[in-house]
Amino acid sequence: MVGEPGSQEEKKRVADGKRRAILLDFDHTLFDTDRFFWVDLKSAFARFGVPDEAWESSYEAIWPSGYSLVKHLDGLAGLGAIRGPDIRKAMLAAFDADFSDLRRYLFPDVPGFLKAARERGFDLILLSFGDPAWQSYKVQASRIAPLFGEIVYTAKQHGKAEPAEDFGKHYMALHVIDNNPADLDAMKARNSRLQTHLICRAEPSSVEGADPKVRDRFREAARYLTIPSRLSHHRCRSLDEVSL
Ligand SMILES: [Mg+2]
Repeated sequence: MVGEPGSQEEKKRVADGKRRAILLDFDHTLFDTDRFFWVDLKSAFARFGVPDEAWESSYEAIWPSGYSLVKHLDGLAGLGAIRGPDIRKAMLAAFDADFSDLRRYLFPDVPGFLKAARERGFDLILLSFGDPAWQSYKVQASRIAPLFGEIVYTAKQHGKAEPAEDFGKHYMALHVIDNNPADLDAMKARNSRLQTHLICRAEPSSVEGADPKVRDRFREAARYLTIPSRLSHHRCRSLDEVSL
């Protein structure tokens, strides 16, 4: 996070006030969360005989207090969908083998965009909403953490506006890229100088599909299509459309 006023870190930032930065969201912006979570992770549970309905209802029950795999397994055990410690142990081992490297869930344009931005002198900041331990697992397993000068996780709904305002004070120019119009509105409302980019990775044609498997493919990303934005943001479908 930004240093306390008067700290060494703060002085350095003020001295560096001519730099430019990009503030990036993680889920549905850099990372294909729907394919990871709603398609592949759900299928991995299903291979152990967990019914989709139990998987979803236990997920809905735990996520407000912060998601974790262990909590999800506990919830499923409570519903009788997982029987016995051996199965639970086998599931954890299988998940560890399948999901310790998540680089395949980064959208294809991500590595090139981050590299090019750094080469052009931009500082990269990751600002991600969600349970910090769960978000950190996904970011670390995606192997992109070393590219970011700062990584901030907030578990507070609409909690991005405050850190974005802080960062805005220390940069000559600050781009923000996010898939959530409400978060972009909140950030821009505090700092009209932000260059905001609303990215939509969902295929609108697939969203309406009646097949539940197709719906899951863009399950969360599609919800953001229904959120109106009050302020104006540059709309794009890929990072290649973000001109720096
Ligand atoms: Mg997001």
